[in-house]
Amino acid sequence: MTQLTDAGQKVFNARYALRDEQGHICETFEQAVSRLARVAASAEKEAQPHWEEKFASIIGDLLFVPSTPIWANMGKPDRPWQPSACFVLAVEDTLYSMYETLLSTALVFKSGGGVGYNFSTIRPRGSLVQSTKGKASGVVELIKLYNASSNMVMQGGVRRGASMGILNIDHPEIMNFIHAKLDGGLTNFNLSVGVTDAFMQALEQGEDWPLIFNGEVHDVLPAAVLWQSIVQSAHACGDPGIIFLDTIQKANPLPHKQLNCTNPCGEQPLFPGESCLLGSVNLARLIAEDGRINRALFKDTVSIAVRFLDNLIDVAEYPFPLIAEATRATRKIGLGFTGLADALIKAGLPYDSAEGRKYAGEIIELMQQSANDTSRALAEEKGCFPEWENSKFHPAEKIRNGTCVTIAPTGSVTTMAGCEGYGIEPIFAVAYKKSTNVAGDFEVFSPLFLEACQLYGVSNSILEEVARRGTCQGIKEIPVEIARIFKGAQDIAPADHILMQAEIQKHVDNAVSKTINLPGAATTEDIETCYRMAYSLGLKGITVFRDGCKEGTVTVGRQED
Ligand code: UDP
Repeated sequence: MTQLTDAGQKVFNARYALRDEQGHICETFEQAVSRLARVAASAEKEAQPHWEEKFASIIGDLLFVPSTPIWANMGKPDRPWQPSACFVLAVEDTLYSMYETLLSTALVFKSGGGVGYNFSTIRPRGSLVQSTKGKASGVVELIKLYNASSNMVMQGGVRRGASMGILNIDHPEIMNFIHAKLDGGLTNFNLSVGVTDAFMQALEQGEDWPLIFNGEVHDVLPAAVLWQSIVQSAHACGDPGIIFLDTIQKANPLPHKQLNCTNPCGEQPLFPGESCLLGSVNLARLIAEDGRINRALFKDTVSIAVRFLDNLIDVAEYPFPLIAEATRATRKIGLGFTGLADALIKAGLPYDSAEGRKYAGEIIELMQQSANDTSRALAEEKGCFPEWENSKFHPAEKIRNGTCVTIAPTGSVTTMAGCEGYGIEPIFAVAYKKSTNVAGDFEVFSPLFLEACQLYGVSNSILEEVARRGTCQGIKEIPVEIARIFKGAQDIAPADHILMQAEIQKHVDNAVSKTINLPGAATTEDIETCYRMAYSLGLKGITVFRDGCKEGTVTVGRQED
């Protein structure tokens, strides 16, 4: 059993530990590990103690970290056993459906999940409402309503509900949607425009683009005007991002059904009603000091983790029957990793180098192979997912899970696991100040950076300078060996962020959560270049963040400077 770091213990205590009736913590990390292992093993028909021990061993050693709802819910006497972090819900163009989905959302939030919606079914603002002869309030007003409701219901009692709103590029209200976050509202929503290959082609050829609802053309605009509006809004406020609908559909395990929506952070495309549970392998603990991956332990960990996640689908208590049915029909799981930055640093490879990407690509490829091998073996043992006969796997490949690999943001679990880099992100910065609602404000120096500085005898006054600037780049007293490896998100060129995302996406069944950081001085052209590059490299989606464009919770360097 591994000891949690102080920050890790804080996350555990605040979010995951069992509490008594007075709200006092009454569970240690070790007891929580047993709780998770026991509940997952209870899905086995045979050899339950064997599997319980295997599950406890990878989780207790922090080799594998299940995502927040699993820790917060599974096996607790006072919580529904709801393991999924990702949900998608349908919303139809009736008042009844809009409010029904709002209620469903509240129930999902309460159980600890986030929700994505594709609002393209909703009639645009100003359309006639037959029954009252009034005007429809439209998509953005509906999003405002949902956003306000998120403030009411805390997710699983610990965090505010996160949502994703998607609108397809041919919806007549698309301009209103593109501009919806410019005034700083809708803070509980990420927004993405659903873009098709046909639109990208129209853009390429300088053509006009019709905005259509229910077969009726409402307006026609040059594709370039729509595109520029997206880019300008993203430049100003970070939203909207883009999801590439055809790229997502190409990887859809059930090709006869349309897949046009993702969960809040974009890493998990899902059908309406479907949910997915997540877990991450902790690379920081699977890489030797020389940077080489322990292949045998890695494969073993992936294999046990796949079985763990698959088992939880059987013992889960979903918020309502539609979710249970849709989730169990495809049995999607989302196994990924966290701590890529830690691994690259140990391997001495820059994040923004061809060697660094090759190294990351090999790890994710090995993960995808091992996860799929396990899912195929599980199909032999326990059967394929129920929709298998309608899937792209039929008849050649028997497999238990519709998808296996997802790269999540790993916002909480990375801190609990004690590694520095979230998911596939580089380290945020070598020095920064962080404000959290759980642990208050604290200043963070990258421990790996400090270690390296000690090794090279970097003086305290130089470290002071690094803290002031928030970066070690361009400081001549910093040894080049350190400067080339310790690059924070802002030190890395946007194109290099995208290249890493693309390398990883090649071996990910679902999608990749990644922020493309740009400096405050970046232009709209820079954003446009990112969005075009994302499309041509086959990304399923992209989100950019220009420094200073949103009120953030993290400041590079010290605030007083
Ligand atoms: N999520 C959410 N609200 C949050 C954070 C996360 O609904 O405040 C959901 C969302 O679907 C997100 C997924 O959980 O994409 C995974 O997020 P992350 O990996 O950061 O979760 P963790 O397990 O680390 O808490």
